Amino acid sequence: MKVSMWYNNRDIRITEVPTPVPGPKEMLVKVMSCGICGSDIVEWYRLPRAPLVQGHELGAEVVQVGASVKKYKPGDRVFIAPKVPCLECYYCKKGHHPQCSRVKERLPGGFAEYVLVPEILIERGTFLLPDHVTYDQSTFIEPLACVVRAQKLAGIKEGQTVLVLGCGMSGLLHVKLTRLRNAKVIATDINPKRLEFSQNAGADLAVNAAENVARRLVDETGRKADVVILSTSSMLAVEQAWECVDKGGSVVFFAVPGPEKKVTVPINEFWTKEIRILTSYYCGPPDLKEAVELIASGKVKVDDLITHTLPLNDIEKGFQLVMEGKDSVKVIIRPNE
Ligand SMILES: [Zn+2]
Ligand SMILES: [Zn+2]
Repeated sequence: MKVSMWYNNRDIRITEVPTPVPGPKEMLVKVMSCGICGSDIVEWYRLPRAPLVQGHELGAEVVQVGASVKKYKPGDRVFIAPKVPCLECYYCKKGHHPQCSRVKERLPGGFAEYVLVPEILIERGTFLLPDHVTYDQSTFIEPLACVVRAQKLAGIKEGQTVLVLGCGMSGLLHVKLTRLRNAKVIATDINPKRLEFSQNAGADLAVNAAENVARRLVDETGRKADVVILSTSSMLAVEQAWECVDKGGSVVFFAVPGPEKKVTVPINEFWTKEIRILTSYYCGPPDLKEAVELIASGKVKVDDLITHTLPLNDIEKGFQLVMEGKDSVKVIIRPNE
């Protein structure tokens, strides 16, 4: 089978490897769609494990199951989480699933024709897709789950004003989910095309990030934002987050600037204003479950965010599109096309 071996964003090699044969407790799935995540192109985050086969947003068809696998059968359409927490350790019990200290196995990368699913992920990481959910739509389950988690941590409530800084795929999912919570949502980006996407996604107001965002926010809504979600690695956005958060509000680092950047927090000012700074990383089983429901029920529609679908051979082009972030939002690789 063909896999794509990622060395760095400009060096991704299509390699032939033997197709795995499932053991008694494993199953083999055929990858139908696998999304390129914004985090896949973050080299400081990914390079320590390179070379590797990336891809953790995959929809697949079960093709072969081991003798003791009873939950799934060939032909089943599934989404598989890249890893599952133990649910028993200190962190899991506190709901900090992404911090689980006992994650044993990861799903091999989905930018491959086939993936061998280990036992634990068959037991607890696999979700059957309803017939009407397409494989392309299923690639949004994992990123939407991360968005669900971030908004849960931020405690977004009806009637609040939420500012989403950065309208890539995740930022746009933040816009959609905020709307669903009946909160007001203001979105920013430097790319006019992405601002258009944000308006189609339901943003009440789309502001070019080159403008004075804080002033626009106060002019348009009368106040600053209750929650500011950083969905970009831009340092300018971090400064805007500080300027745009209201008293008693929160700033959520959904994306971060990177290890070489130093973020200065106006902590004395935030002290008197009781402003909270949060981080949100990855997702947990309850978030995945909610994301599946949101997509299956059509409450969060995702088709409008798909801008490119490419075969595995064009994966380097896919990474290029995501890095440029000009005309693309969601880029999906279809390894069996
Ligand atoms: Zn991701
Ligand atoms: Zn755990």
